[in-house]
Amino acid sequence: MKVENNLSTLLAEIDEVTTTRPAIIAVTKYVTIDRAREAFDAGLMHFGENRIEGFLEKKAALPEATFHFIGSLQTRKVKEVINEVDYLHSLDRQSLADEIQKRADRTVRCFVQVNIADEESKHGLKADEVLDFISGIKDYDKIEVVGLMTMAPNIQDQSRLRRYFAELRNLRQQVQAMLQDNAPCTELSMGMSNDYLSAVQEGSTFIRIGTKLVG
Ligand SMILES: *Cc1c(COP(=O)(O)O)cnc(C)c1O
Repeated sequence: MKVENNLSTLLAEIDEVTTTRPAIIAVTKYVTIDRAREAFDAGLMHFGENRIEGFLEKKAALPEATFHFIGSLQTRKVKEVINEVDYLHSLDRQSLADEIQKRADRTVRCFVQVNIADEESKHGLKADEVLDFISGIKDYDKIEVVGLMTMAPNIQDQSRLRRYFAELRNLRQQVQAMLQDNAPCTELSMGMSNDYLSAVQEGSTFIRIGTKLVG
């Protein structure tokens, strides 16, 4: 399918459940540069990649787009990519925060990644660790916590998925209530091909779509 067609289907579905459209991040990790360019030409402005090589390659091909690093980032690789990212979606530990503070030339917009269903296989802080982690980085001037990110379990039960997304939204409110200067935490990065409608219904502001858009 053409990206253009996939996008109009996606937007129509979103518009049925909400009046405030989230930003759509085209996740291009499985596809070629040509396919990413097709997505850009279809009007998509945000792109997401989860590996450094793919990230740098797509960014070089589409210098006018906004680039989101959505994969887990090894501490020793921070220096290779941190000054190229527009948004990092995977801040999930103190050692990573320390390395960003050391290597970044400017303030990096970060999402704190939360393992909302506490799954063995997933990265991210547990929900009950998030507030302490964020207050622990309050003096890090190279980090701005713009929001929270989660990958929900790969299940079909939409009502259960909605409860996880609602939990992330509640957690965002608790972060906002801390009134921490470098943690405005206005955004929610949640929703993938399998669960974006549930995420949008719970107030997602960035959805990350691969398969349904460019796959
Ligand atoms: C691959 C990936 C996505 C997109 O997944 P799809 O199911 O193909 O939409 C979103 N977020 C992250 C972190 C990913 O790694």
